[in-house]
Amino acid sequence: MQSNTQPTMETKEKPCEDCQTCLEVLQIVLDAEATPEEVVFVEAHIRTCEHCHDCYQVDKTIRETIRLKIEKISPPYELIHLIQSKITQINL
Ligand SMILES: [Zn+2]
Repeated sequence: MQSNTQPTMETKEKPCEDCQTCLEVLQIVLDAEATPEEVVFVEAHIRTCEHCHDCYQVDKTIRETIRLKIEKISPPYELIHLIQSKITQINL
């Protein structure tokens, strides 16, 4: 009773040419270094492509998690001040 697989003509496993470009540009977009055209391209593509949409979500989540961890382990102001004063001493 569970043979409800969708009849698809093309194999969904293999990413198409657009997907390969999309996944590359996606990294640039997530790095916030993409041009407006690249952002538009990725946004338009992930709206129609489930595969890239998933990749985008996963990558975005990973990056956000890393960012939060970096913020948490960032050195306290005292330490930054200490380092800055050391640098000043070296310069003198
Ligand atoms: Zn795609």
